[in-house]
Amino acid sequence: MQFIDLAAQYKHLKEKIDARIQAVLEHGHYIMGPEVAELEDKLAEYVGVKHAITCANGTDALTLVMMALGIKEGDAVFCPTFTFFATAEVIAYEGATPVFVDSDADTFNICPLDLEKQIQKVIAEGKLKPAAIIAVDLFGLPANYPELEKIAKQYGLKLVEDAAQGFGGEIEDKRAGSFGDIATTSFFPAKPLGCYGDGGAIFTNDDHYAELIRSLRVHGKGKDKYDNIRVGMNSRLDTLQAAVLLEKLAAFPQELISRNKAAKRYSRELSSIYKTPVTPVGYLSSWAQYTVVAEDRNAEIEMYKSKGIPTMIYYGTCMHQQTAFEALGYQDSDFPVASRLAKTVFSLPMHGYMMDK
Ligand SMILES: *Cc1c(COP(=O)(O)O)cnc(C)c1O
Repeated sequence: MQFIDLAAQYKHLKEKIDARIQAVLEHGHYIMGPEVAELEDKLAEYVGVKHAITCANGTDALTLVMMALGIKEGDAVFCPTFTFFATAEVIAYEGATPVFVDSDADTFNICPLDLEKQIQKVIAEGKLKPAAIIAVDLFGLPANYPELEKIAKQYGLKLVEDAAQGFGGEIEDKRAGSFGDIATTSFFPAKPLGCYGDGGAIFTNDDHYAELIRSLRVHGKGKDKYDNIRVGMNSRLDTLQAAVLLEKLAAFPQELISRNKAAKRYSRELSSIYKTPVTPVGYLSSWAQYTVVAEDRNAEIEMYKSKGIPTMIYYGTCMHQQTAFEALGYQDSDFPVASRLAKTVFSLPMHGYMMDK
């Protein structure tokens, strides 16, 4: 079996996706064609925000947000240490300092208690200016936004939602992509909503950020791309990817139901063997990954392998353990929960076309 069965999905949607791709080949507007605007409207409607702005990938989406928020050298931006590298990378890329935060042992998401501790530490040290928080909806589960929003407000920080894995998740009927000041997602093929290459998007209700990001994604354009009023980047979603995403977004609600069914079944069968994922009351996960905790992870992975069942380790290395961030001088004892997770988690196959068998 496949870890993520993109071929099964394509088989299911083939006629519609093929027709959408053919339409692009015929009209030939490969950059910012009509499918891009159509997708942005449908994404904004689905997520429940005023503006959805597509771009080249999820990392660029975060970079554009850092630029729009004016994150710069001397700023501290708080993010979980247990995440994919891009979350922390975009902070350092702007010359700012990533300040890592430990995880909640049950949800694997950023721990609000440790976040507040880290903010107070930065304030006490007086070297960096606390500027923003990037929370991550890890494995599809929205972070604890009710608590994070309180902390952001108390300390005057911007709150960014990295929903690269979280698209489709919910807290009390509010969808992932609508939390914080501004949110991002990724359409990398393995994400809950993936295209056939790279893609990403930014979501916000703020007209000012939206206008700024629309300019920044096309070389800091003013009236047009030959009128450059600021330094930006080149980060657009290809029309072909937008065409694919339009059909995948239409099928997404049904896939989300299937993913949740599969997760429920996993939990029913496995909760007596491993520590299975916790979904707090009122939360819905989009199950980017179904991740369990096992003390002897390697033995479990070998057992699955012998049965032809693929597994993956997300993530075996925390941000504070990455060579690129060695100079920040963190130790495992600074993040006991995340360091333990990196040694004990593994993920099982998960996609929208799983069969009971
Ligand atoms: C995948 C991912 C990204 C980056 O998305 P790309 O489209 O691969 O650039 C950022 N943050 C998290 C948490 C991710 O999982």
